[in-house]
Amino acid sequence: MKPHFHPALINDPLGDPGLVVHFLHESRALLFDLGDLSAVPNAVLLKVSHVFVSHTHIDHFIGFDRFLRTVFGRGKTIRMYGPENFIDNVEGKLRGFTWNLVANYNESVTLDVVEVHEDHLLTARFRAIDKFKKTGEAREPLSGGVILDEPGFSIHTAILEHRVPCLGFALKEKFHVNIRKDRLESLNLAPGAWLNELKRAIHEQRTDDWPVRVPASVNGKKGFEERRLGDLKRDLVIISPGQKIAYVVDTVYNERNNRRIVELVRDADVFYCESPFIAEETERGRERCHLTSRQAGLLAREAGVKQLRTFHFSAKHSVRTGQLYREAEEAFRG
Ligand SMILES: [Zn+2]
Ligand SMILES: [Zn+2]
Repeated sequence: MKPHFHPALINDPLGDPGLVVHFLHESRALLFDLGDLSAVPNAVLLKVSHVFVSHTHIDHFIGFDRFLRTVFGRGKTIRMYGPENFIDNVEGKLRGFTWNLVANYNESVTLDVVEVHEDHLLTARFRAIDKFKKTGEAREPLSGGVILDEPGFSIHTAILEHRVPCLGFALKEKFHVNIRKDRLESLNLAPGAWLNELKRAIHEQRTDDWPVRVPASVNGKKGFEERRLGDLKRDLVIISPGQKIAYVVDTVYNERNNRRIVELVRDADVFYCESPFIAEETERGRERCHLTSRQAGLLAREAGVKQLRTFHFSAKHSVRTGQLYREAEEAFRG
């Protein structure tokens, strides 16, 4: 089975935190945190449809400018999520530049900014052609922490403690559609973009009669024919449980917060978790509102995740990265 979502940390564990999630066979990606993005090629940033910012400490938000610079003038609408005060933070960034020349661009960029609160979302729009003036402010209710819900996947969030609110995130694929390669061959069907259409129709729960365009040779030339979705599902598809990828940074180990983290990341296939400090630095962790390696491992263990990836190590521990990994893994494995 080929997973649909391919997550990768942006920097090494001592660099600014950030995660990019690539979509299989689709020109699309999700970005978690906007720290130093110099290691991310423009081609990847141009695939990003949604950005999820945990909080706006500089190591999680300094990359905003690079991101905007890259997507500017491409006619895109990007949706950005962040915690309390996020709309002000984005507005402040945008006001730091002079936008008198934006009229020279036919295609510009629109940022739809979403601020996450316990029971509601605040949204605002910043369009380059408006010189990034804030427009369209609105408020909508939020329940269950689901901030994005698409046919194929959803994004869940929890507001965590870091002296300021800090968002943890989990991406959940609703179910996974596997295409049987052996059947493709025996049915003489070539793989291609139509398989994405097929998967989309299944995720959108179309009826069995839904027509899917399948490549075929028509009068000796390459063309398409329509097949019933129900037949293709029966012949080509195996449905399996979806992936879950969780991302938690900059937060503290205490009972209330742990409950929120464990609930958010439960059963994740991969749990990306910060661990700036070594196991014995619990006091330092509490003071600075960060996790130790051992605490990251304990949380992963309690949540029953399959794989733990720790990162966002303190620069002070640049020669102890092995110890940070080991302590986390020991606590995780018990
Ligand atoms: Zn922070
Ligand atoms: Zn940080």
